Amino acid sequence: MDEQQAENQRLRAQLVGLKDQARRNEEIFRRSHERNMSLLQAASLGELLEAMVGGLARAYELDAATLLVRDLRHEIRQLLQAEDPHGELPPGLAFVESLEGLAPQYNTLWKPWLGPYSASDHSLVFPGQSGLGSCALLPLRRNDELIGCLNFASRDPQRFMRSHAVDFLQHLSDIAAVCLENAVNRSRLVRSGITDVLTGLYNRRYLQHRLVDELARSRRERRPLACLMLDVDHFKPINDRWGHQAGDKVLAQIAHVIREECRDSDIPIRYGGEEFAVLLPGADNTEAGKVAERIRAAVEAGEFVLPRGRVVLRLTISAGVSCALPSRAEEELKPLGDKLIAEADVQLYRAKSEGRNRVCGVAG
Ligand code: GH3
Ligand code: MG
Ligand code: MG
Repeated sequence: MDEQQAENQRLRAQLVGLKDQARRNEEIFRRSHERNMSLLQAASLGELLEAMVGGLARAYELDAATLLVRDLRHEIRQLLQAEDPHGELPPGLAFVESLEGLAPQYNTLWKPWLGPYSASDHSLVFPGQSGLGSCALLPLRRNDELIGCLNFASRDPQRFMRSHAVDFLQHLSDIAAVCLENAVNRSRLVRSGITDVLTGLYNRRYLQHRLVDELARSRRERRPLACLMLDVDHFKPINDRWGHQAGDKVLAQIAHVIREECRDSDIPIRYGGEEFAVLLPGADNTEAGKVAERIRAAVEAGEFVLPRGRVVLRLTISAGVSCALPSRAEEELKPLGDKLIAEADVQLYRAKSEGRNRVCGVAG
């Protein structure tokens, strides 16, 4: 009888243990499902990257999480910047040219690796962190290519051990890789809708949208916003004489000059045809006048080469300057934006009528 009771007790204890295990598994499954959904639901590249580093670090209560994204041509970083020009990179995110250079282990990593943290192998993966005990490295692969790596670390040496099951981390890294690839492609598509194909500058549609954003920021930060309108002088004769393809080549070179003379924070736009606009956040009338004058002088000094390099042309450009500082009371920013452009346009046409190759609208 005693023996039977003991057996019963043992079985009951086993049942409780199994129930606990099942509850724990269910909890892990629920949490990992939630995490996967947070990646799948990210609405933009920026949101996804934040969900991948910050979101996962919080959800899994990690001491460190990093995401290394392979970005050979700096394209992904620029896409992110185009999405949110004033945004900061989430901590833990880094764009790198080569992943293997940071941890040789990545070379042969096909599935998540769990194990002890070693400063010699992992210090570049978790820069600035100390006291880590164990880590998990999750390779993000698409079509056999390593596109990034998601890295988790804990101070607890037992948290990530080689003997642990890697199924759910494998699943997470598969989903993260697909999400990353999709978000980059989506962002590329959006961007292609806001850039001018010939010159690579932003297009007019983007200006409309960005102008309101910049005016709002200018009102918030009480900093002026300046605008330049530029129009190439006597451009039509170039087309007439050398053909439209030659004209296109000249326009691309002028766009290049404009971009070179702008500050990094300025926003150069192809407004249409041979007209360009530049938004200069934070610039007052005098500063904007200086940028316009630099562009004018650089175009005048430039040599524009026609296809096959046979002919070198000299050109000039005219510019109009306007500036706004929205007051707090000014609610409607769209009409204010229209006014900013219209004023620069009026000044541009003044520059044309006064003889071209000049900048108008600068006070003093
Ligand atoms: P102004 O000094 O008064 O500005 O004279 P302009 O000849 O530059 O001005 P106009 O507006 O008469 O001519 C602009 C020309 O630009 C006419 C148009 O065919 C040409 N153009 C507009 N867009 C493009 C383009 O994308 N490629 C080429 N090749 N030409 C273009
Ligand atoms: Mg024109
Ligand atoms: Mg013109």
